[in-house]
Amino acid sequence: MEEGLSHNLVSGLLGQTAEAVVIGGADGGVTHVSAAAAALLGHEPRDMLGRAMPALCAALAQDGALWQGVLPAAAGREARVTLRKSWIAVDGDQVAVIARLERETAAGIDLLTGLPDVTIFHDRVQQAILNAGRLKKSVAVMVLGVDRLAMVNEGLGSAAGDAVLVELAERLRRCVRQSDTVTRMDGDHFGMVLSISAIDDGVLVAEKIFHAMGKPFVVGSRELTVGASAGIGLWPTDADSHPEVVKKAESALRFAKASGRGQYQFSSNDMNTRARARLELESRMRRALTHSEFRVFYQPKVDAQSGVIVGMEALVRWQDPEHGLISPGDFIPVAEETGLIIEIGSFVLAEACRQNAAWVAEGLPRMKLSVNVSARQFRSAGLVDEVSRVLAETRLPPAQLELEITESMLMDDIDRTVAKMQALRDLGCGLSIDDFGTGYSSLSYLGMFPITTLKIDRAFVKDVESNPKTAEIARAIIGLSKGLELDIVAEGAEIIEHVQFLRDHGCALVQGFYFSRPLPAHEFADLVRRGPMK
Ligand code: C2E
Ligand code: MG
Ligand code: MG
Repeated sequence: MEEGLSHNLVSGLLGQTAEAVVIGGADGGVTHVSAAAAALLGHEPRDMLGRAMPALCAALAQDGALWQGVLPAAAGREARVTLRKSWIAVDGDQVAVIARLERETAAGIDLLTGLPDVTIFHDRVQQAILNAGRLKKSVAVMVLGVDRLAMVNEGLGSAAGDAVLVELAERLRRCVRQSDTVTRMDGDHFGMVLSISAIDDGVLVAEKIFHAMGKPFVVGSRELTVGASAGIGLWPTDADSHPEVVKKAESALRFAKASGRGQYQFSSNDMNTRARARLELESRMRRALTHSEFRVFYQPKVDAQSGVIVGMEALVRWQDPEHGLISPGDFIPVAEETGLIIEIGSFVLAEACRQNAAWVAEGLPRMKLSVNVSARQFRSAGLVDEVSRVLAETRLPPAQLELEITESMLMDDIDRTVAKMQALRDLGCGLSIDDFGTGYSSLSYLGMFPITTLKIDRAFVKDVESNPKTAEIARAIIGLSKGLELDIVAEGAEIIEHVQFLRDHGCALVQGFYFSRPLPAHEFADLVRRGPMK
């Protein structure tokens, strides 16, 4: 180095050069590194100076003009590099070296992200099609382009761009199943190969990926958002070969970019329509929440002996200004997927408790209120606090409230489920297993759960008068409830024979169209005032 050339000046120069340059001293320490050299390994320049890089330092101090070896790269990975020394200066006991770094590419693996590369991508598409053909499944090929990577590279340096790519690769990997493939095709393009059973699975994964892309990327002390566009081709729906399905995905990507970026496109219009309908439903649901379009209907639970209405189930309805009254079956699954169910569920709980407290204040008899809790709501951390708060705010006696959860929610993580249920029971409210008999839970577990009620699924009521097998199952469930000292309710009683069977076999409470469909609040109150049902 020239005398008088300050450390800052050299650093400044190295920040500008496009070459990967490293300068090291005789003691083996890296004293300067160009931004390009740091980017090559995925580091920030200052990280390379601060951090010990024994292999690099040893290589710099060696005599030979060429060194090949492995260096630590970003995200805990390693990079194979070639180091070419182009200039060596000796000044007393100081040796300064300018060396050029080149990164080798290993066959099949992208060194920056550790993902398989474009050759592997094509290979996997081919394999997936062969497998799917055998299993009568479909393959979705998605090509994803990062929208603003060039801007990040230009504005913040290629090290920042590389950091984004590494994080993005990790997010993509987390969005797909283990058996699916994520590859880096080139620069800012990623290729994914997903084996799917239903076409809607393609929409689901695409949504998941776009959700993951939307979160900011943390690079150093900054938060960046880079958008993505994607094209999806489906085999065999819109292509019958491997090259064809990739071509479809790529042209769908071009279309996605041309129509404004930040979106995904299927290659077939049919699928785009479906995906749009789903997204539209989601945004209409969000609007419905802010515009108070959700209503709570009530369906009576009737004492089978006396005909007295002793309880009710709160059932949500969506009063859509354009489409009229929408049933929960048409929106709860999407609400569950998108998390909107949490807000909808909160609304139903608060409104149903408020309404029941108001009815008692108006002089109606106290009736038990059942509210459905979805899987996502049940798992959410805030549920117990929320129930406790709503009970306090509405002054509804806790014993008047019962939460319905389905059998399939029980088997997830048994210890945690039991603890959550116990916390709800400690508030004083009841817990019912909805749709009992359809969830394939092991009966041996049933005794472990602190539940108060079993609710026989409609499936075991609908032909109970004519099908001996159904009748036997219904009898067994009723017997089980007796043995475990649980309350029992049957749902879906549509005809007098259903009611008679249930009553004669000891099912005390019955709910179903025979007595009443779910009703708006005022109609339900009128029905109660009319007295016992027959
Ligand atoms: P579920 O909790 O098993 O509710 C019983 C369903 O059976 C209701 O359908 C009810 O209208 C229907 N039903 C009642 N009696 C009869 C009958 O005699 N025959 C027939 N065929 N059906 C009968 P709905 O209101 O469409 O609700 C469907 C499902 O949506 C509910 O099943 C529940 O899983 C879910 N759901 C409804 N409201 C809510 C809510 O506020 N929160 C959550 N998380 N889920 C809800
Ligand atoms: Mg229910
Ligand atoms: Mg049910």
